[in-house]
Amino acid sequence: MTAALSISNLQKTYENGFQALKGISFEVQPGDFFALLGPNGAGKSTTIGVICSLVRKTGGSVSIFGIDIDRDFAAAKQMLGVVPQEFNFSQFEKVFDIVATQGGFYGMPRKLAEERTEKYLKQLGLWDKRAVQARMLSGGMKRRLMIARALIHEPKLLILDEPTAGVDIELRRSMWTFLEEINRQGTTIILTTHYLEEAESLCRNIAIIDKGDIIENTSIRSLLKTLNREVFILDVRDAL
Ligand code: ADP
Ligand code: MG
Repeated sequence: MTAALSISNLQKTYENGFQALKGISFEVQPGDFFALLGPNGAGKSTTIGVICSLVRKTGGSVSIFGIDIDRDFAAAKQMLGVVPQEFNFSQFEKVFDIVATQGGFYGMPRKLAEERTEKYLKQLGLWDKRAVQARMLSGGMKRRLMIARALIHEPKLLILDEPTAGVDIELRRSMWTFLEEINRQGTTIILTTHYLEEAESLCRNIAIIDKGDIIENTSIRSLLKTLNREVFILDVRDAL
């Protein structure tokens, strides 16, 4: 089976000489709900930046459903939706427009983009806010706005960079429920998090990244199974 995401020997050395990714490899299978867990500064956002071509890698390769991003990023982009860690939309643009405009980026007809915007704003509880400027939204709403925007072209792979950081527990739960539902409908999901609880309760498989290296890559179940692993997790938990 072709992996939804295949990362091989990925390296990133920033312009200042800092080596943020030291040659990481992992795969995510279609349909999976996958966690990339690690403390601040581990290299999670750098990895996602490379996948969506915002960060230029210095070595290795990335394929999305078998499409090498260096060979055909336009095709890979159609399969990929990304919710970045930082808010990256205009605060003065209206909620509906922020989502609908994104459709143009994928060559979607305006009418289809508007239908999808309505669908996802409703599903994410933002339909009431459609005519409001983004700056008026709470942090949790802004995050959901970015999720709606990332889904406009109904990507097969959705990657979310710390989607629940700073979101209170109740909102976090409702976001989890939404993500579980779209995963059930067939979307492969990868999220980065530094909450172990989030990885445990949502994800089936996990990679743990620390200082630019993958230090564990297994199923959540087997990670939790043995005492050694639990001790290991406690160590990681302390580090987070
Ligand atoms: P995470 O998302 O896991 O918190 P990041 O991928 O954002 O980690 O960052 C990994 C490391 O790379 C950190 O030490 C960070 O300071 C460093 N880093 C990130 N962006 C840059 C940059 N533009 N130039 C130099 N170092 C960077
Ligand atoms: Mg980050």
